[in-house]
Amino acid sequence: MSTTERPRILVVGGGYVGLYAARRILKKMRFGEATVTVVDPRSYMTYQPFLPEAAAGSISPRHVVVPLRRVLPKAEVLTGRVTTIDQDRKVATIAPLVGEAYELPFDYLVIAMGAVSRTFPIPGLAEQGIGMKGIEEAIGLRNHVLEQLDKADSTTDEDVRRKALTFVFVGGGFAGAETIGEVEDMARDAAKYYNNVKREDMRFVLVDVADKILPEVGPKLGQYGKEHLEGRGVEVYLKTGMDSCVDGHVVLNNGLEVDSNTIVWTAGVKPNPALTRFGLPLGPRGHVDTQTTLQVQGTDYIWAAGDNAQVPDMAARKAGNENAWCPPNAQHALRQAKVLGDNVISGMRGFPQKEYSHANKGAVAGLGLHKGVAMIVMGKMKIKLKGRLAWYMHRAYHGMAMPTFNRKIRVFADWTLGMFLKREVVSLGALEAPREEFYEAAKPAPKPQAAAEPAPAAKAEAKDNEKAKAS
Ligand SMILES: Cc1cc2nc3c(=O)[nH]c(=O)nc-3n(C[C@H](O)[C@H](O)[C@H](O)COP(=O)(O)OP(=O)(O)OC[C@H]3O[C@@H](n4cnc5c(N)ncnc54)[C@H](O)[C@@H]3O)c2cc1C
Repeated sequence: MSTTERPRILVVGGGYVGLYAARRILKKMRFGEATVTVVDPRSYMTYQPFLPEAAAGSISPRHVVVPLRRVLPKAEVLTGRVTTIDQDRKVATIAPLVGEAYELPFDYLVIAMGAVSRTFPIPGLAEQGIGMKGIEEAIGLRNHVLEQLDKADSTTDEDVRRKALTFVFVGGGFAGAETIGEVEDMARDAAKYYNNVKREDMRFVLVDVADKILPEVGPKLGQYGKEHLEGRGVEVYLKTGMDSCVDGHVVLNNGLEVDSNTIVWTAGVKPNPALTRFGLPLGPRGHVDTQTTLQVQGTDYIWAAGDNAQVPDMAARKAGNENAWCPPNAQHALRQAKVLGDNVISGMRGFPQKEYSHANKGAVAGLGLHKGVAMIVMGKMKIKLKGRLAWYMHRAYHGMAMPTFNRKIRVFADWTLGMFLKREVVSLGALEAPREEFYEAAKPAPKPQAAAEPAPAAKAEAKDNEKAKAS
């Protein structure tokens, strides 16, 4: 890393907020005004709204991520984790991918570490659950689901087959409803290539403790989303939780028990727990407490935004909802990042800070090919769309929101190819252990015992023969 005399702006996290904030700062900064350092354990930003489509194979996984070093050529990008912050010394501790941790001084700090899956101590969940926060999980889920079809197609054991063809999803918010919608569509579509697996052999179960799914699009569209999924054969259980899933035996608190190899956990997110080591003021649910300017409460050189921050929702507050906070979504993350970037520049130059305010523009959700729901807010009007039109809205909105021209083109190219070529249904489960086969081929062969040394029985026989000859 560079050791220049320029002030350092340290951006912790290269996700939505980190990437956009760093880009904004670099765009507005004068040449040589500061060093921008972005630290993230991954070398790429993930466009999470496309994870369900990556899991369904509609978009190539590599096109859902944006390489940080390529899009931030003027920044210093470090691949590692920020583990602690010492505010008195203005020093962060970085744990790189390999090697010893080291300290990095900073002058200005941006906290953009996002959220992690919110889990509960449910027996079996840690061992069996599959999350949906990163591209690795989306690829893993896709391979795993297709592998279950391969297994079911090739076994004669009815219990093994039933377990393989049962898929349980816990959490019916955006991430959960979109993921089950996409994966169910892909899996049932793939059934046509299997002799012993039919569409109707698969069982999909969606569970949520709330009394509705897709709360982001409002009660009516949420109800439509539920009925739509049920119409496709998905069993939806509301006001229901999962009590345990040890060895894939799922027990729901409504009395239902099913065996499943696939338990997808999308029951919400919580702020990154690493924040607790940073000594920053945290809100009741663990978010960094920020002012309307995105400055962390009580500081003038630290900013936070996105899923790890508790930002007052000024637009909702002005409309009468006094205690509103910005919900954790990409819509806010993107806009907050831009204001944050401007405020870092202003802070560095001693200019006043801008207040963040953004009125909700609605939400779009894809539920599989040509299916979706969308709510578009235009002033006081809420336009509700469903089915194919909503799905087009979903694709148009996210296609345009995907960072960088390069990725936009690749995503639209994937969609266009998908219209003419059939969906890819190959399972590459072996990706998770790519060296296994080579190891089997290359490991030293065991010494052939007979040639090197006679086996004990043969030795005894030879001795007996010698004795017989001598007598
Ligand atoms: C499946 C799914 C679907 C979604 N769909 C939608 C949608 O349709 N519409 C919508 O508006 N929103 C959607 N969202 C939410 C949206 O993606 C998030 O709100 C947004 O990504 C938040 O941005 P962020 O920068 O706060 O966090 P992230 O984008 O998660 O970035 C956080 C970054 O911090 C890094 N990090 C973590 N720990 C450390 C550390 N110790 N040191 C350094 N870096 C660290 C992480 O690696 C990551 O790159 C979806 C989310 C998911 C999971």
